[in-house]
Amino acid sequence: MKITSVESMLLAIPFSDRDVQWRLGGTGHVFQTLMVRIDTDQVLSGWGEVFTKNGEASLKAMFDTHVRPALIGRDPSHINAIKRDLERQQHNFGRVGVMAFCVSAVDLALWDILGKAANLPLYRLLGGSPRTEIPLYASLARYGAAPTVGRTTERAVREGYRAVKLHEVLVETVAGARAGGGPDIAVMLDTNCPWTLAEAKRNARRLEPFNLAWLEEPTWPPENVHALAELRRSTTIPIAAGENAGSLIDYRIMFEAGAVDFVQPDIAKAHGLTEALKIAALAEAYDVAFMPHCFMIGPGYAHTIHLCAAHDVPLMERYYLDFAAEPMGDIVKPRAGKVAVPQGAELGCEPDPAAVKLYRVT
Ligand SMILES: [Mg+2]
Repeated sequence: MKITSVESMLLAIPFSDRDVQWRLGGTGHVFQTLMVRIDTDQVLSGWGEVFTKNGEASLKAMFDTHVRPALIGRDPSHINAIKRDLERQQHNFGRVGVMAFCVSAVDLALWDILGKAANLPLYRLLGGSPRTEIPLYASLARYGAAPTVGRTTERAVREGYRAVKLHEVLVETVAGARAGGGPDIAVMLDTNCPWTLAEAKRNARRLEPFNLAWLEEPTWPPENVHALAELRRSTTIPIAAGENAGSLIDYRIMFEAGAVDFVQPDIAKAHGLTEALKIAALAEAYDVAFMPHCFMIGPGYAHTIHLCAAHDVPLMERYYLDFAAEPMGDIVKPRAGKVAVPQGAELGCEPDPAAVKLYRVT
């Protein structure tokens, strides 16, 4: 089998919640996703996804100019070799960041092709699972005010979610979530790296009464695992991090420092599914809970479902926003706070051609 063509496509999908403070597409209430399709000479195609936030036209240009040409003619079943070659050829463009995201998308697409060739769902290639659905946590956008956080949490709980994660930096917003969701739901707080160690220690003391399931990325910069470790020793709140690390060695350093209770690699950021499997094994050896990050709604989201099924991850992250389209189709749409594990070959779902046509930007 040979790779015959590689195409990246940028989609911008609107969402309806006007209270959201984030500008995820850089231009307003849209969420951008950069999908990648790898085609072969044997009909099979595979899909991957590059982590996106904003400015994705430049990300697409990087993928198209640096990564795409290196893939044509390769045998897509050589996943490890292709990943290793790309990493070594391109490492000075980032072992963390843009190039790691691009390599991730390729790795995901190659796993997709492998599953289709084997005619097996991805989770079975990864070891299998009796699970048919996975509980999700509602990963809320940033609202910046306790009443809005409370209302949104209340709505998520009413829809069936038993866990919510806030993306906030104000302690009072956690009180808002508790008021909206009650004492029994799991509440996590993701602050996205805002504080010095001293500020984080002070705020952690104020947060302790709220019984958080974890506090995520409380300190700046994210690679300072020693600050995180010191914070972890000083508070009763479990610490989560890992979405901003790039590869296995970063995670080793994080675990050796004793920085985290929950580790959160993102398969569209940290060199793909192949790297995530190594990180999961290392996490197990260090007795750290493996809790993949998922900031995607495209192919990377579907891959993460299979990874969580096969690795018995108790709770998976899902954006809590009303998108104008579910790009991977209704089969992976959240229902009552859960998502079904698709049973078809490989991902068991494909990007919806109508959504791609409607929301493709470039
Ligand atoms: Mg996070």
